[in-house]
Amino acid sequence: MSFDKAEIEMLMDGVLAWPAVQDMMREAKDEDRFDKYVEIVQERVPWDDRILLPLTPALSIVARDGRRIVKCRCGHEFGDYRVNWKLSSLIYVRDDEESLSEVYQGREMPDPSWTQVREYVCPGCGTQLEVEAVPRGCPPDFDFLPDLDTFYEDWLGRPLPDKAEYTDLTLATISEWTG
Ligand SMILES: [Zn+2]
Repeated sequence: MSFDKAEIEMLMDGVLAWPAVQDMMREAKDEDRFDKYVEIVQERVPWDDRILLPLTPALSIVARDGRRIVKCRCGHEFGDYRVNWKLSSLIYVRDDEESLSEVYQGREMPDPSWTQVREYVCPGCGTQLEVEAVPRGCPPDFDFLPDLDTFYEDWLGRPLPDKAEYTDLTLATISEWTG
């Protein structure tokens, strides 16, 4: 079964891409579907770095100079994909009643002494990349670290030309900063 491009485009908008890709692949092991999906995302960005995996509507993991980095559709680069990209974004925190009430209009507002809302924004284009409501002081949630090599090798049946150790480098990066 071949997948209609328009259908894939509908699936794409407004969803976290990696979980959607996994669902897509689980339903039908149709690598053509993934390729079309990446093709669409690639057509929408103004740069040429090869997209390995879309992460969110704005962010993708791309191959660049032998590295795998997270890149915004505007071209802003967030660095190694194994480090939570949120560390390199602009972060706006709402943690008092006034600022929280702006986003919780008409809905039950969380207790500001426990909860904060963080908005992660691309420094390049100002796009709001993600919003999370978390307990105060809790580190940024690393939504998902895709195992790119396994995905390409086992799911798509064509390994990537290079390999990267599948490991979360976020904590190592934070300790470099504070070390
Ligand atoms: Zn951007």
